[in-house]
Amino acid sequence: MTFEYAPAPESASVVNIADSYGLFINGKFVPAKGGMTFPTINPANEKVLSKVAYASKDDVDKAVAAARAAYTKVWSKLSPAERGKYLFRIARILQERAREFAVLETLNNGKPIRETRDADIPLAAAHFFYHAGWADKLEHAGVGNNPKSLGVAGQIIPWNFPLLMLSWKIAPALAAGNTVVLKPAETTPLTALFFAEVCQQADLPPGVVNILTGDGATGSHIVNHPGIDKIAFTGSTEVGKLIARSVAGTKKSLTLELGGKGANIVYEDAAIDETIEGIVNGIFFNQGHVCCAGSRLLVQESVHDEVIEKLQRRMSQIRVGDPMDKNTDMGAINSSAQLAKIRELADVGGEEGATRWDNGCELPAKGFWFRPTIFTGVTQAQRIAREEIFGPVLSVLTFRTPQEAIDKANNTPFGLSAGIWSDKGSKVLWTAKNLKAGVIWANTFNKFDPASPFGGYKESGWGREGGRHGLSAYLKGGK
Ligand code: NAP
Ligand code: MG
Repeated sequence: MTFEYAPAPESASVVNIADSYGLFINGKFVPAKGGMTFPTINPANEKVLSKVAYASKDDVDKAVAAARAAYTKVWSKLSPAERGKYLFRIARILQERAREFAVLETLNNGKPIRETRDADIPLAAAHFFYHAGWADKLEHAGVGNNPKSLGVAGQIIPWNFPLLMLSWKIAPALAAGNTVVLKPAETTPLTALFFAEVCQQADLPPGVVNILTGDGATGSHIVNHPGIDKIAFTGSTEVGKLIARSVAGTKKSLTLELGGKGANIVYEDAAIDETIEGIVNGIFFNQGHVCCAGSRLLVQESVHDEVIEKLQRRMSQIRVGDPMDKNTDMGAINSSAQLAKIRELADVGGEEGATRWDNGCELPAKGFWFRPTIFTGVTQAQRIAREEIFGPVLSVLTFRTPQEAIDKANNTPFGLSAGIWSDKGSKVLWTAKNLKAGVIWANTFNKFDPASPFGGYKESGWGREGGRHGLSAYLKGGK
């Protein structure tokens, strides 16, 4: 049975996108050197939304100089309570402009308006509120009773949660007394540029936040700039390794939040219907463009058939289409490049012998789309069990004993997230203790809170973001 809904589109008229944007340096929008620009599109229909400036090495120099001057002359001299006031102000403005930001994020990223409205934007504001409260309590951050800021932070973020990743980076850096140069991802620059306007609206002193749009080369100029004290990067493990190499042997401190291949473990005593919702949330939230996605489903053999049958039935109800429609569950893939990567790995899954199933839904003619897909009969050696697909594709493996579940779950170069579904508290605790993952959810999935540290083991990265641990990555002990 399928339910037909009348379309319920959100209006795009709440957001005013300019034809072009400059770089945000020292509190002002300025053109890039040589006037270089690139277009940014809506991945749901491939229409150009705006043109943004392309930052080259000279622009990075200018932004770092502005951040340094703001650090030495203004931000590091301000009382912690005054810094906190700016963060509270930014948090409130984000809340006031939440609808506008939600629409803008959906237009530029392709994710459903329901998610930007209910997750991305409220969580971004929550991050600023949380860190605003920390600004005058830094002696409790765990780095001694006289903590000091690091200086200028270079921050590089991916396209899957553009404004949220920005807030994970900027809020703790500013609360701790640092100034920043941030580069959003090439395909999703717009909410970062609107955030620059929020900084102006909040009267944030010029140079405390600088936003440079560009591509990987811009990111690499930031990473290699000698005037930067800390690099904070979220993105792929591949680029994370490059950055670790570049920063090695310099005085820069480094945090890396990288990829994942999260195991979602379903024991036979789990509440199956509830578990199905958790599996769907774990892999189809944000089109599966989630570093901590539950992309490897480990099901106890005795309930495998029941779980797969119910999962397929539930997946048939997932509505894929216009991200601006409030009824939409899954939106567009963020770029043609990402779509090509997902297609390639899904094809390999079939060639390597796993059984492919998707929900067969109709897809829009324009834009980048991929159906919710599962592979059953997956073995540990297959690429779809080992590599991050970063799309709406679930690999299903089975196990017989709890120890086998642990062995399979930990058999990965990553270690970011995991989920456990069971009726037995003792089994949940035993499993969590034996899993090598930074974030473990029990009988739920993809729950986030600014007070809770997030980060990984092994190739999923170094350091934590959020909570006291995340804050301390922007501080050093002082005398
Ligand atoms: P990516 O290619 O590594 O890009 C991430 C950022 O780094 C982008 O801003 C990118 O710029 C920039 N960049 C690319 N090459 C660079 C270089 N050589 N030096 C410095 N910066 C460079 O990753 P992505 O494809 O955008 O994002 C998906 C990945 O991020 C996935 O692997 C996912 O798991 C991971 N992720 C991790 C977390 C976490 O918290 N652990 C959260 C979200 C995503 P361009 O966009 O212009 O190429
Ligand atoms: Mg990239």
